Amino acid sequence: MGTKGREIVGMDINKVLTLLNKAFADEWLAYYQYWLGAKVVAGPMKDAVIAELIQHAADELRHADMVSTRIIQLGGTPLTTPKKWLEQTNCGYDPPDDPFVKKILEQNIKGEQCAITVYNSIIEQVGLKDPVTYNLAVQILEDEVEHEEDLQALDEDLQVMLKK
Ligand code: FE
Ligand code: FE
Ligand code: MG
Repeated sequence: MGTKGREIVGMDINKVLTLLNKAFADEWLAYYQYWLGAKVVAGPMKDAVIAELIQHAADELRHADMVSTRIIQLGGTPLTTPKKWLEQTNCGYDPPDDPFVKKILEQNIKGEQCAITVYNSIIEQVGLKDPVTYNLAVQILEDEVEHEEDLQALDEDLQVMLKK
């Protein structure tokens, strides 16, 4: 880690690392929830939903990469086991045990709403005390806001279809 880059962080670095590792856990769990959801989902509009889930899975994996890069820059270690993801996650993991499209969409909308809350909270806590982490959280938040909107739009189309 660059010494000056670390020196400018105007708050407890361990506090930042805790926030980032919890978000890192969320991203891996979100990735897997989307990845598996795309495999098992069934019902009307399945093809459109699968395309969106695959795209979101790729985004969550990219977020995990972005967050891990920052953790390492700050001298930390990204969580080393999946067990720790489950212990430290903010948003948890909803298994796609019921593969019906409506249920899968609802689970992932809930996940995105949690992610939005988490990154907004990181932005508020870190603020200008750590502008690099702040910027990272803003970039990811933009994606999570888009994810929620994409899923809610699909859910609205599905409602119309189910009522016919
Ligand atoms: Fe994400
Ligand atoms: Fe997301
Ligand atoms: Mg999308």
